[in-house]
Amino acid sequence: MGMNVQGRPTQQVAESVAPSSTFTGNRALQIEESLIFEKNAFDETGVDLPEPVGVNRLGAHARQSPINLPGLSEPETMRHYVRLSQKNFSIDSGPFPLGSCTMKHNPRLNEKMARLPGFADIHPLQPQSTVQGALELIDELAHWLLELTGMPAVAMSPKAGAHGELCGMMAIKAALIDRGEAKSRTRVLAPESAHGTNPATAAQCGFTVDAIPADETGRIDLEALRQKMGPDVAAIMVTNPNTCGLFERDIRAIADAVHEAGGYFYCDGANFNAIAGKVRPGDLGVDAMHINLHKTFSTPHGGGGPGAGPVVLSEALAPFAPVPYVVKEGGRYHLVETRRAAEAEGESHAGGRLTAFHGQMGMFVRALSYMLSHGGDGIRQAAEDAVLNANYVLARLKAEMTPAFDGYCMHECLFDDEFLKGTGVETIDFAKAMIDEGYHPMTMYFPLVVHGAMLIEPTESESKQELDRFCDALLSIARRAKAGDQSLKTAPHFAPRRRLDETGAARNPVLRWTPAE
Ligand SMILES: *Cc1c(COP(=O)(O)O)cnc(C)c1O
Repeated sequence: MGMNVQGRPTQQVAESVAPSSTFTGNRALQIEESLIFEKNAFDETGVDLPEPVGVNRLGAHARQSPINLPGLSEPETMRHYVRLSQKNFSIDSGPFPLGSCTMKHNPRLNEKMARLPGFADIHPLQPQSTVQGALELIDELAHWLLELTGMPAVAMSPKAGAHGELCGMMAIKAALIDRGEAKSRTRVLAPESAHGTNPATAAQCGFTVDAIPADETGRIDLEALRQKMGPDVAAIMVTNPNTCGLFERDIRAIADAVHEAGGYFYCDGANFNAIAGKVRPGDLGVDAMHINLHKTFSTPHGGGGPGAGPVVLSEALAPFAPVPYVVKEGGRYHLVETRRAAEAEGESHAGGRLTAFHGQMGMFVRALSYMLSHGGDGIRQAAEDAVLNANYVLARLKAEMTPAFDGYCMHECLFDDEFLKGTGVETIDFAKAMIDEGYHPMTMYFPLVVHGAMLIEPTESESKQELDRFCDALLSIARRAKAGDQSLKTAPHFAPRRRLDETGAARNPVLRWTPAE
């Protein structure tokens, strides 16, 4: 028996002696969990219910066949769902290096605040006099967002980044209608590297999308942009820092160019966490920008929700903000909930509702909790540390992997697949091999402007030790690829499931369970 570095006994088993599979399909304590319907105990029940009494009035509608609900005891039910939950990878089980998504730590303090009964147990239809604290919280969060962005107005209700884009582009459309130019200004410019929601939103609002090429540094080609300006330009949509993880240094010149052409500047603020407390978008000439509270201000997200995407607006667009919004009068707060009410307040251009109520209250509480616990200096430090961490990862991985662009990055670092050339290993194989090493893969094949892209965002909340372990694992995979290790092509080998046909699953989803004969 040997000893490991911690002095704990270990026993090496020769590969040939180790079994390749188990009778149950389990891998140690990773239990192979069947579907709840496959547990096959339809005639059992975990509770005793009395026989139904009274007359059955369903007549011909009464069920003819057994209902086939699985019958499980309480411990069986509990184990089934707990085991399923343990198959879920989350930010609480390890680093989540998805670039563009900002999967940072969600402080438990935020959760505690969001669960306070005064926030968690209120109803959106309650009389406003009984929810003054909640309205004050929305108003205070709005104040922080305006302060951090240097903008004069904010629409709080959009429920995601993409929804915020829709809100901002609808405000731009409304402003153009008001100017009598909606028919002539139909073109929206967006960089080739843009997140898919940018062109999708522009198209949804009836604009055509014109791609702006990048220069060799990965930033907008300013000359090409100027060439594209014209009287039909409605707006430009720019992400800054951009989706290559780089700051658009010409941002002021870009804003001036679009304003001179009579268009508006929509900024995609998904990467605001790299500059919060350092740069105010209002000083850069932005007309509208969404803020993904679930990225920048650490509210939990993933799997499609929930999110919150408030949109800050310039003087020019503020009048076209949607209802509802919070107004403070004589120490009391009230929500202006309809266009008619907005008109009565002198807001004759206000837009209608984008959501049923006022937005994602739970996310608002968490975001403000994050802001207040960090303070202005803490938010600035979070941005600085995010950039530092990404540059540390970039510097370490450069040894074996190929950065897509030269120079420093912002909060995320981008690699292409040049270093895999001739190895037979591709980005997808590299990502799958990371699963075997215990890491969630980075963002793959995005942005589209980089071949075989690998976009890594470590966030500020990872320690140097964690970053080193992560980098060591990635460097080892890169070295295996270069050494011709073809087992990477079939990774993951140690996960409960092997390489899945993800395209097949998306194209031909099997959504109905049929019992085995
Ligand atoms: C995440 C993201 C979006 C969309 O935000 P959602 O909240 O997911 O709708 C838009 N643009 C960029 C650059 C993003 O990273």
